[in-house]
Amino acid sequence: MAAAAGGCGSRPHTANAAHLGFSDAAFERQRGLEDQFRSSVSREHLGEFHRTLTARPHPAGTAASLAQADEIRRTLESFGLDVQVFDYEPYLSSAKEVAVDLVAPTHEQLRVAEPPADLDLDTNNADLSPGYVAYSASGDVTAPIVYANYGLPADYEALAARHIDVRGKLIVARYGRSHRAVKVHTAEAAGAGGLILYSDPADDGFARGATWPDGYWRTADQLQRGNAKYSWFWHGDPLTPGRAAVAAAERLDPATAPTLPRIPAVVLSWGEARKILERLDGPAVPPAFQGGLPFTYRFGGGSVRARIRVQMDAGRRTIRDVVARVPGARVPDRQILLASHHDAWTFGGVDPGSGTASLLELARALGALRRGGWQPQRTIALAFWDAEEPGLIGSTEYAEQHERALRDSTICYVNTDLYMNGPLDAGGVPSLRDFLVDVTKDIAEADGKSAYAAWRAHEWMRQSAERRRRGDSGFDVELKSLGSGADFVPFQDYLGLPTLSIEFNATGGYTYGAYHSNYDTRFFMERVVDPGFVRGAELVRLLGTIALRLGEADVLPFRFSHYANRLREFADTAAQWAVSDEGETLARVDLTPVRSAVQRVADAAREVETRIDDGVASGALTAASAAALNDVLFRLEQRLLDDQEPPERRWYRHVIYGWNIYSLYDGQPFPGLAEAIRVRDAARIGTEVNRIVAALDRLTAGLAEARQAAGRARH
Ligand SMILES: [Zn+2]
Repeated sequence: MAAAAGGCGSRPHTANAAHLGFSDAAFERQRGLEDQFRSSVSREHLGEFHRTLTARPHPAGTAASLAQADEIRRTLESFGLDVQVFDYEPYLSSAKEVAVDLVAPTHEQLRVAEPPADLDLDTNNADLSPGYVAYSASGDVTAPIVYANYGLPADYEALAARHIDVRGKLIVARYGRSHRAVKVHTAEAAGAGGLILYSDPADDGFARGATWPDGYWRTADQLQRGNAKYSWFWHGDPLTPGRAAVAAAERLDPATAPTLPRIPAVVLSWGEARKILERLDGPAVPPAFQGGLPFTYRFGGGSVRARIRVQMDAGRRTIRDVVARVPGARVPDRQILLASHHDAWTFGGVDPGSGTASLLELARALGALRRGGWQPQRTIALAFWDAEEPGLIGSTEYAEQHERALRDSTICYVNTDLYMNGPLDAGGVPSLRDFLVDVTKDIAEADGKSAYAAWRAHEWMRQSAERRRRGDSGFDVELKSLGSGADFVPFQDYLGLPTLSIEFNATGGYTYGAYHSNYDTRFFMERVVDPGFVRGAELVRLLGTIALRLGEADVLPFRFSHYANRLREFADTAAQWAVSDEGETLARVDLTPVRSAVQRVADAAREVETRIDDGVASGALTAASAAALNDVLFRLEQRLLDDQEPPERRWYRHVIYGWNIYSLYDGQPFPGLAEAIRVRDAARIGTEVNRIVAALDRLTAGLAEARQAAGRARH
């Protein structure tokens, strides 16, 4: 029953074959454990956890956030888990005063707070703050307004081509297509005096679908808070790259740290932004700049002027991570780490209450199994990070503080920020694709079909018309490349751990009406997102099955043959970066060495997987005899890191995956090469090609070690 050769997109092991990493006999026991776990998941408990977690606003750095952490700690202890807390003192930023005034052609004070609604009394809570942009500079700027579309470099090029001067001006830009920090940075680099962000209904509002309280999309009154930290330098605390922000840590000076904006930024709802936009004069914008409001958008730059006043309150604040464990029986020093965050801009109804509550319900179910006498083979850990919203701070500081221990112990990091009532949105490293297919085939959803069938059907619908015309034979699901935007970043990009992001998403991204608004509440969750917490219970069953299977597998279920498939696709994509839309060659890139290195990975992976599948089927590879093999397998991903430079120069150390800051949160394959091609630097292109080849050859060498370990185990 040896595996079919890899190389195609289909499952590399035979149809009725054993589950990856288990002999048939071992999987029968495993099935019993998983069935017991899944039948114990309770949407009533999940709903109650959610009610407690979303009772009050609890932004990071406040007493309410520390109280939330302590409540989570007590709850986890009551489940019978081993719990630790970790405190850090990062540099956080909130608003003392925010004001936006239209000063010409008329004077009008614009609203920077969200008005409450009778339907949801939480929106009237006295602890709610006005909308603000964390890490904005303080300032007081009065200037003419220029409308800059999404506020990205190409938008400023369009303005420059029309001789519209943005220096010293107040820029109005809409959310979408990039992280807000990129918009602030681009405005700053262009010499703007300040930035006014808003959510246009074309991107997040009535043009997308039903608005609150009937649907997911934003009303005229709802605004989106968020951080504008320049996290492409490094994630986490803006002042302590590569080291934990503990009390005694050496810190950068905020006045010179590259991670902090130098211009003030504010945020408005479209109902308020409209009062500016509909008055703008100057030439009409091109179609790509036109938003969803019912008038012709104009560039401005003339008679319409505004004043923004921002007084920020920035400094060191205490944050608190909570980590719970069910220790492993056989290999306690190997762990599966599942995580969400617990801080929220306001109540965190969806972000992150839906995710936090799901993880608590998973903890409850694991605690019940433990009290019944069960212990996993490997440790299962659950982390609840603080200060995700200001820029992945609780997770990053923990990852930096425990770098060595995490790299020596963690076989997989699984992140769940939030969920909605929608299809599976799965991202992660390609070596875990086959494993996730395996798991989802064994989980039934409410309609009786497997989670895999629903996942595949949804992914098929997202394929291009051209791809779908060829029919779906040979088509299979893919894990999306992880970029930025959630707590998996330090674990994938800084530590090189095998990483998954498991969520259900209904709006195609982190944009939805209540996102980072006062309206992201219990009411929104119960009314729109998941009435009865049915979908949440399905998420807990999926997360728990992943954890139990990784916790028990005799051989860890990594498949690097599929990694090679993806690398081949990335090389094909990279070849296109150097060619303009008009077919003109922008830079000379020779990818032959990369393609050869990928082929070496593919060949080595196939040999390992054949040996593993034979060994598991014959009974030669058991939990005991596979120990050395497993120790090589879980560290293979780390060979794709390049950690030769200090973190303040190169914090994103993963050579294959990174963050394309100009595309909203998306993963960027070969990030260093992509940037070198973007700036057309021939020497740098060569360096980056060599860097990729070296990383892939380290992986190939690791696969050879795995093959030897698998071979030794047979005797
Ligand atoms: Zn979140």
